[in-house]
Amino acid sequence: MKIGVLALQGAFIEHVQALRQLGAEAVELRQLPDLEQPLDGIVLPGGESTVQGKLLHELGMFAPLQKKIAQGLPVLATCAGMILLAEKLTNDSKLHLATMPITVKRNAYGRQLGSFFTEAEFGKLGKVPMTFIRTPYIDSVGDGVEVLAAVDEHIVAAQYGKQLDLAFHPELDVAKSTGIHEYFVSLCVAK
Ligand code: GLN
Repeated sequence: MKIGVLALQGAFIEHVQALRQLGAEAVELRQLPDLEQPLDGIVLPGGESTVQGKLLHELGMFAPLQKKIAQGLPVLATCAGMILLAEKLTNDSKLHLATMPITVKRNAYGRQLGSFFTEAEFGKLGKVPMTFIRTPYIDSVGDGVEVLAAVDEHIVAAQYGKQLDLAFHPELDVAKSTGIHEYFVSLCVAK
């Protein structure tokens, strides 16, 4: 089980640690050759989606990454990662990987707001801790997308095939729960 964590910018170390804690091999993806090794899954971390998108292009990683995800490689995307996967953004004309039929609102509570902690039901996992930081949320989902969690009537987690998209940061709450990373690892195992 080898999972690549995109390590260009943002909160990637915490994902690497969470996956290693669960016994998975986690490798940092920093340049094109890192993407060319056999991987069972990919994590797109939180951070700043505009910067991440720009770096993916500059490093020649954008198209190969998009192709892998479109072909079904499991992906766990958190926050900025969620924005990278969205097929549509309500308040930004610049799209990125656009592999998931969801409409996402960036900085949905305003740039400085939208940072809070709560606990809410997540799919079959029951309640999980959720840390939100300048959070986006999902405005609407297209055909075939399963909604996994909502907070205050806003969708904050969804799944499309093996693309798991979260508005919050499970990597920051690993001390409380590793449930979401375990769920993602189970998606990577079930080929
Ligand atoms: N608001 C950020 C963006 O647009 C995402 C915030 C986050 O990843 N914590 O990229």
